[in-house]
Amino acid sequence: MGFECRICGTCCMYLGDYIVIEKQTNKYRFDCCCISTGTSFSAEVDPDKRDRFDDTTFPDQNPTACRFLRPLGEGIIGCTIHTDSPAQCKYYRCRIMDIFSLEGNERGYITGTLALHSSDSSLRDAYDTIMKGISGPGEEAEEQIRAGLIKAGYEVR
Ligand code: SF4
Ligand code: SF4
Repeated sequence: MGFECRICGTCCMYLGDYIVIEKQTNKYRFDCCCISTGTSFSAEVDPDKRDRFDDTTFPDQNPTACRFLRPLGEGIIGCTIHTDSPAQCKYYRCRIMDIFSLEGNERGYITGTLALHSSDSSLRDAYDTIMKGISGPGEEAEEQIRAGLIKAGYEVR
């Protein structure tokens, strides 16, 4: 099953130091820098989100969050510059595989960058072995990881 973002905002809550506003060029347009990649970009607040953006209660209460993150209603916390946001934001996938023991206990998960999050040392060993045969990201790599984990005795959802 493909990844479906719930627009919960969790992944943007600590990105205030990574998506940096360098200059405001008009009320809703900003020159920005994505610090992790060193990429500059210009972003305009999406027209349908400007009333939400104008309310600074959320960034005031969450100083570590990306400056463009806002509650958008109905429990959604989302990006107000979605149209102009950097590619790594648009295509970010927080979780692409959930890994369980055959008894159904959650053991960890894999992120869209193919990183394993788990405190299970056996799972870590299996993952490290699988990753030695993987050259880079992509659908083929994801299938290799999935198949390898199943072969190692895990359930992958
Ligand atoms: S990528 Fe994940 S953490 Fe980020 S908003 Fe979507 S569901 Fe939430
Ligand atoms: S630009 Fe948008 S998607 Fe990227 S970190 Fe900020 S709020 Fe999140």
